[in-house]
Amino acid sequence: MREREFDLIARIRRRAATRGDVLLGIGDDCALLAPPPGMQLAVTMDTLNAGVHFPDDTAPADIGWKALAVNLSDLAAMGADPAWCTLALSLPQADAAWLEAFCDGLFALAARHGVALVGGDTTRGPLAVSITAHGFVPADAALRRDGARIGDDVWVSGTLGDAAGALAQWRAGATIAPPLRARLDRPTPRVELGRALRGIASSAIDISDGLLADLAHIARASGVGAEIEADALPASDALREAFAIDAMRRLQATGGDDYELCFTAPATQRETLHTLAARLDLPLARIGRIVAGSGVHCPGLDGITPGYQHFA
Ligand code: ADP
Ligand code: MG
Repeated sequence: MREREFDLIARIRRRAATRGDVLLGIGDDCALLAPPPGMQLAVTMDTLNAGVHFPDDTAPADIGWKALAVNLSDLAAMGADPAWCTLALSLPQADAAWLEAFCDGLFALAARHGVALVGGDTTRGPLAVSITAHGFVPADAALRRDGARIGDDVWVSGTLGDAAGALAQWRAGATIAPPLRARLDRPTPRVELGRALRGIASSAIDISDGLLADLAHIARASGVGAEIEADALPASDALREAFAIDAMRRLQATGGDDYELCFTAPATQRETLHTLAARLDLPLARIGRIVAGSGVHCPGLDGITPGYQHFA
């Protein structure tokens, strides 16, 4: 069914939940929002372009989920509690069924984290989804990239390389292992972990471009180096089954799109972090340490070039 811009916005508005701190949501020229007193606002934006950030055959519900997930992952990496988002939608055609399915995925994840969609923009063009997400973090409690100290441990949540494994299978024209495809299409932003790492982690980043590339951002911002043990990188059973060891290591070290958190913490926090992993039912692996110098070194992975780069 073909619709006009106004109908599409009405459709989105009907699906959007609200929250008490949204004084005025979708419908006026601006949203009016009331951040809690004393909290800092963490703001982030990420765009998904068809064919670049997801395969063209991706289900609309998965696109909706992922567009929000990548933004919530940024909030998680700062230790912020998600609150609001806005949505810029560029659509090749006004397709009501597509939009409803997109909303299914978007609002399923939004509900999980109590996020309200408070505004946006709807235009015609190549399929692209931009979301801006806002979260709250207590003053000076945000997890930044520049806090890593020499001697800190380097940790990573969950497993690495799954999303990149799915992409590798897709590019090769092979059947994509369902658990890997699920990680590519429906990444889980580590919101609870990020929040819990306040006061524990010295720095954090979410893994969107690949572990080596993203950890290099922490190293650069903190003025330190990092050493990683290839054997310590966590892998899912599905990844182990699908790839030989060398290919698997490369995916774990350089594959993007996992949206796990990489963070540093003093060695005195090891016990606390093991307890936290159990409480969240989310594995946390200690994969290396922060050292004097610069760059990220991984003796088992010499010669691997890190990460995905646009315009490269
Ligand atoms: P304006 O021309 O004043 O910018 P629009 O017609 O673009 O208004 O939007 C009308 C209302 O609908 C605004 O409140 C805007 O934030 C909201 N809106 C438009 N597109 C979206 C969208 N994709 N998701 C959520 N809200 C949207
Ligand atoms: Mg507008």
